Amino acid sequence: MKEARLSDEELIEKIRARKEELGSRLLILSHHYQRKEIVALGDFIGDSFELSRKAAQDRECRYIVFCGVHFMAQSAAILANPQQVVQIPDEEAGCRMADMADIYTVGSAYRQLEALLGSGEVIPVAYMNSEADLKAFCGENSGIVCTSSNADKALKWAFERAQKVLFFPDRHLGHNTGFGLGLSAEQMLVWSPDKPLGGNDPDALKRARLILWDGFCHVHTRFTCDHIKQRRARFPEAKIIVHPECPREVVAMADAFGSTSRIEKYVKEAPSGSTIIIGTEINLIERLALAYPDKKVLDLDRSLCPNMFKINLANLFETLEHLGEMNVVRVDEAIKAGARVALDRMLSLA
Ligand code: SF4
Repeated sequence: MKEARLSDEELIEKIRARKEELGSRLLILSHHYQRKEIVALGDFIGDSFELSRKAAQDRECRYIVFCGVHFMAQSAAILANPQQVVQIPDEEAGCRMADMADIYTVGSAYRQLEALLGSGEVIPVAYMNSEADLKAFCGENSGIVCTSSNADKALKWAFERAQKVLFFPDRHLGHNTGFGLGLSAEQMLVWSPDKPLGGNDPDALKRARLILWDGFCHVHTRFTCDHIKQRRARFPEAKIIVHPECPREVVAMADAFGSTSRIEKYVKEAPSGSTIIIGTEINLIERLALAYPDKKVLDLDRSLCPNMFKINLANLFETLEHLGEMNVVRVDEAIKAGARVALDRMLSLA
C-alpha cells in the first residue's frame, strides 16, 4: 500500500492538508484511548458518551470519521443524519467485551426472566459497548443504553420503571454502579449465558434487583489489588483512580473511580505537584502525563487495548482519501430505529 510507506510526519502533513481542504464537511471523532497522534488530529476528543452526543449534534458535516472501536462508530451511524456518512479507519477494530453478549443469548435470558418473574418486571440496560441489535432490543423493551459516565443515572431511570434490571455486557461496571446506588451484594447476581437461569436459583432471582451479564473488559480486569498495594508502598502520597470496568475489590481499594472523562477531570483538578496513579488504558494515561507535566501521572500497570490501537495514521489517511467509500459503517434501518430510541433515552438523561 503506497501510503503505508510514508513517514509519520508526511502522513500527519497530508491528513492536515485533507482536513483543511474539507473544512466543516469533515468531522474526525477520537476516543481518549487512541494513540496521541490520532488524538492530536481529532476535531473532537471524548469518551463514548461525549462522542455519541457530538455525532448526534453535528448536523453540518458530511463525513464523520470515527477513531475508536466499531460499536462506537455504529452508535454514531445510528445517531447521524441520513445524509451523513460514518467511516472507521479499521473495520477490524472491535471490542472483546462487546463480543461477549449477542442478541440470541440476551434474548433468551430476558425470556427466561420474564417467564419466572412476569412480563414487564425486568428492564434491559445495555452498556454502550454492545452491538446495535442489543441497543435496539433495549429500545423495543422499555430499556436504555448507558456509558460509564452515566450508568448510575441510567440504572436509576430503569429502577423508577421496574423492580429489576438485566445489565449487559459488563458485570463489573454494573456491580460497581449497583454498589454506588446502595444495592447489597445479595441484590446483584451474575448471569452465566451458557447455563439455565444463568446458573442462578429461582428464589435468588426473585430477590435480586440487578442481574449482571457475565462479561468483562480484559484491559481493566488486568488490574488487581496487588497492583494497588505495590503502588501505595512505593508512592504513599499518591491518589489512585480506576475505571469502573475494574473488578469491585480494585475499585473498593482505590481513592476514586470514574469514566475516562471523570479520570481526566480528576487529574486536571489535582493540585500541582501531586501524584496520581491511574488504572485504565495506557494511551489515556500517557497523554495525561504529557498534558500535566506539573503532576506525576503514573499507570497502575501497563494495559493497552489492542483494538483501539488498530487505528493509526496510515489507515486514517487512507480513509480520508476514500471518503464515502472505505469502511462505511452501515446499520440495518429496523435495528437503527430501535437502537435510536434507547440511545435517545440515554442522551436525554439529566
Ligand atoms: S478498552 Fe475494553 S471495553 Fe474498551 S474497547 Fe477495549 S476491550 Fe472494549
